[in-house]
Amino acid sequence: ISKKEELISQTPAALEKNALTVLEKRYLQKDENGNINETPEDLFYRVAENISQADKIYDKDADTDSLAKEFYLAMSSLDFLPNSPTLMNAGRHLQQLSACFVLPIEDSMDSIFETLKNTALIHKSGGGTGFSFSRLRPKSDQVKTTSGVSSGPVSFMQVFNSATEAIKQGGTRRGANMGMLRVDHPDILEFISCKDDTKNLTNFNISVAVTKEFMDAVEDDEDYNLYNPRNGEVAGKLNAKEVFNKIVDQAWKNGEPGIVFIDRMNDGNPTPEVGLIESTNPCGEQPLLPYESCNLGSINLGHFVKDGDVDWEKLEKTVRTAVHFLDNVIDMNNYPIQKIGETTRSNRKIGLGVMGWADLLMYLNISYGSHDSLMLAEKLMGFIQTKSHEFSQELALKRGAFPNFKKSVYVKGSPIRNATTTTIAPTGTIGIIASASGGIEPIFALVYRRANCLDNEDMFVINPYFEKFAKEHGFYSTELMDKVSKTGSVHGLKEIPEKYRKIFVTAQDISPDDHIRMQAAFQKFTDNAVSKTVNFQNSATKEDVKKVYILSYKMGCKGVTVYRDGSREGVLITGEKKE
Ligand code: ADP
Repeated sequence: ISKKEELISQTPAALEKNALTVLEKRYLQKDENGNINETPEDLFYRVAENISQADKIYDKDADTDSLAKEFYLAMSSLDFLPNSPTLMNAGRHLQQLSACFVLPIEDSMDSIFETLKNTALIHKSGGGTGFSFSRLRPKSDQVKTTSGVSSGPVSFMQVFNSATEAIKQGGTRRGANMGMLRVDHPDILEFISCKDDTKNLTNFNISVAVTKEFMDAVEDDEDYNLYNPRNGEVAGKLNAKEVFNKIVDQAWKNGEPGIVFIDRMNDGNPTPEVGLIESTNPCGEQPLLPYESCNLGSINLGHFVKDGDVDWEKLEKTVRTAVHFLDNVIDMNNYPIQKIGETTRSNRKIGLGVMGWADLLMYLNISYGSHDSLMLAEKLMGFIQTKSHEFSQELALKRGAFPNFKKSVYVKGSPIRNATTTTIAPTGTIGIIASASGGIEPIFALVYRRANCLDNEDMFVINPYFEKFAKEHGFYSTELMDKVSKTGSVHGLKEIPEKYRKIFVTAQDISPDDHIRMQAAFQKFTDNAVSKTVNFQNSATKEDVKKVYILSYKMGCKGVTVYRDGSREGVLITGEKKE
């Protein structure tokens, strides 16, 4: 038997049912008749083998068999997974491996529709796109060539939205977009409420790019200037507090727009001489230059427990493997357009992050949101950040620094291979594949009911660790699980000792301030940004939302996304999945 078969038979992947379903639906290779013709282990080996080949570029005698084995074991054990496009496409015809792209939109028909075409190509291959619409002249502004007037940024967003709607990705996955507008654009008020009708712009997440000048004006209750991007001239004034309140009202109503602190993102831009950051990818965790892409990967923290502590040694090893893997992805990637390839290869950004953070805290008996959890967040992400930079510097010795190194903020330090190494992604799908809690989010519900299509009776879905713990500590009963399923939370349930209830906190039990503190703790040690949703109870007021926006700014976050329970369909709401 071959090396591959031997490896696979000795180390099969331990996938749960949901994971298998996701893999079968979208990730496993199918023949021309639509029949699946690879196993999950084949998939992990296909990806490992393909990504290992990049080592040959730097050393023609590189032992890629051993490296493929190292990559295979990291993935099949579910200790580490790359973003979805890498799992789907590596070693196959498409070979498009990145989740995140940002494309420019200049103030011309040529540019708008060139980017629309490129967006289509990216969506077809499983990537998500982000754009700033800030360079477009405002609605009703003059158009010289036709002597008419422009229809403005929001109308062009509709065009991108419709195109996205029309392109189905691999049958099931539609594209995702981020649309941004600077707070000093004349159309900002229209933008803030453009998703007021929730049937509008469904393929977009929207965020207001908020400047430092604006935040200062909010604090001092002053007016601020709007600028026409066509000529840079002042086009009006608005009261900062009023605009801020409008953003808050809208977010309170249906979770959007989010805000990003665009000047802070640019303060963290490793290559300001090369270009400015004007947008992020769809979920907000990856600021990028126009025509830049990034590939992400996440370490499954629930697998890193040893003797009641974090298994630091294993973590270090896995960080090294992951950085090696993600740097190789840049070379193996088939970029949808040439310019994206060039920009991406010149900065070589990668985004290593984590999933299963809430799992890890539970296993260590630490309450999510507690002082201890925040301390551990900083220590752990600080460790990943340091080790990933160290390994990227080691790679630079063999492979050279990223080509824009001389134009980067790193120029006075040691050569480094990657302009960024860390990003915290939502891990929406790879979290399911790894049976891990998503990104750095808390558990959503400990027990919930789900319709069972086989016999039409509801079934319980119980968090496996909670179930095991409840049995071991003598408080398990069907009646209790039923009770927990009503809200998903054990908050206030006297049947469970308080010291245990503290371990099993869920998203709704955690105060919005603590959500932000957790985000800030991770952001402190993350090169790029952090995907995080701040959950509010339905009864939360606009004032509560406002406070959190200000807190996130004060605590150094790069952006903030909120969700008030029950305010919008389409998300997992306690007890049941609403699609
Ligand atoms: P996954 O778990 O599938 O690897 P994440 O939930 O971590 O992905 O999301 C990471 C990034 O992947 C997002 O910010 C976005 O750029 C991209 N992405 C996620 N879902 C989609 C989608 N349906 N279409 C296009 N891109 C997506």
